[in-house]
Amino acid sequence: MRTYFFETYGCEMNIAESAAVEQLFIARGWKASESAQTADVAIINTCSIRETAENRILGRLGWFSGLKAVRECKVGAKTKLLEEAVEYVRDGAKPLTLIVMGCMAERLLQSFQKDYPFIDYVVGTYAKHHFSEIISAIEEGRKPYKIDDSEQYRFAALSAEPGAFSTFVPIMHGCNNFCTYCIVPYVRGRELSRPVNEILNEIDLLGKMKVREITLIGQNVNSYHSDDGVNFAQLLQKIADHLRETDSPIKWVRFMSSHPKDFSDDVIDVIAKESVICRHIHLPVQHGSSEVLKKMNRRYTREHYLELVQKIKDRIPEVSLTTDLMMGFPGETEEDVELTLDLMRQVKYESAMMYYYNPREGTPAAKWEQIPVEVRKERLQRVIDLQLEHTHEQMSKRVGSTVMVLVEGVSRDDKTELLGQTEQHEKIAFKADRSCIGSFVNVKITELSGNTFRGELQ
Ligand code: SF4
Repeated sequence: MRTYFFETYGCEMNIAESAAVEQLFIARGWKASESAQTADVAIINTCSIRETAENRILGRLGWFSGLKAVRECKVGAKTKLLEEAVEYVRDGAKPLTLIVMGCMAERLLQSFQKDYPFIDYVVGTYAKHHFSEIISAIEEGRKPYKIDDSEQYRFAALSAEPGAFSTFVPIMHGCNNFCTYCIVPYVRGRELSRPVNEILNEIDLLGKMKVREITLIGQNVNSYHSDDGVNFAQLLQKIADHLRETDSPIKWVRFMSSHPKDFSDDVIDVIAKESVICRHIHLPVQHGSSEVLKKMNRRYTREHYLELVQKIKDRIPEVSLTTDLMMGFPGETEEDVELTLDLMRQVKYESAMMYYYNPREGTPAAKWEQIPVEVRKERLQRVIDLQLEHTHEQMSKRVGSTVMVLVEGVSRDDKTELLGQTEQHEKIAFKADRSCIGSFVNVKITELSGNTFRGELQ
């Protein structure tokens, strides 16, 4: 039995793309390996979003090169972890095939091909549809299959992780926005929308598996525009209609990431009207100062963003909003920081992804004068402290209410409890029979403990 091992870094798109490639291995009778040491094939799905992520992955590649050398009996094991690989080789297993895919594979394709000879296949983001051929070549022990990476991006047929109740459905790929700090448009290319019928077919397949919740993903989902003229609001409507007409077991639809400049009134109307679309919107603001937003090339102002938030809250009062915030961008002043804190106080996000700016080689902002790292970190800390207060405040308001919960599994902290998530994407622990796992149940929220609710099954 041949085995594969995935190590995935980065965003939801990478998770979905790893899952899609994993489905190809499974369809051909391969099994997941517990560890890289004993796998026939190891696939590292890489992320280029931050330099720290890339450095970490380069470190891991060094480890994989050692593992490969041990597996090919070129060197002895130097670490305990590699000893397992030696045992595996003694048992007569084949050498390791190492595949690197994802954004780093796209960005550093030539460097990987030239300077990292131990990597068997470098599969850029535009070339992952060649995986079937690559797997055949490995199975047949053929010489490395030559990848033509000059073709257009293709969406995978199915991106579900095996056995998952919640999964991602890619609907678009790439980005046309060129925010001045972001590497994504350079490694993922221009926007490409997936045809509606492909999306609906994948949703049907997922419904027949164990999936109960889907998240539509793309670098900028709400700029979705299919070749036959369907925009994002219309796509949401078509999905809601299709789920209703087919009596699908999928009861929750989410989407991310959305860009505030493309968030139309029509999208707000569909969410307000269709209960299958979760009352949880991730709306990355990045910063609260119009000056900084302009330097970031975000193409909206603080005022536009606040108006949009007000419109959403008016139409969907039970909505929970989450965001991304980046502090310490070049040129940011103390006044800009105060504007960000003020915007947070006005919106009251339920949670936020918060980070300080890190220059990304190859983007315009990396060439600008930088704010000292200590100042960036201190400003980030102020934002984190305020968000912690808001998270507690927003979540506390929901204690006492009864909510629908998708039961995901047994709690890691207490095996007598189940863990699920709410429509607003919060975690909740409660006691119930394990037969509930994978279904929707009603739970009364009785307490907030850290960032997790505790509750009672109703
Ligand atoms: S919208 Fe901006 S931050 Fe998002 S992927 Fe595109 S360039 Fe990057």
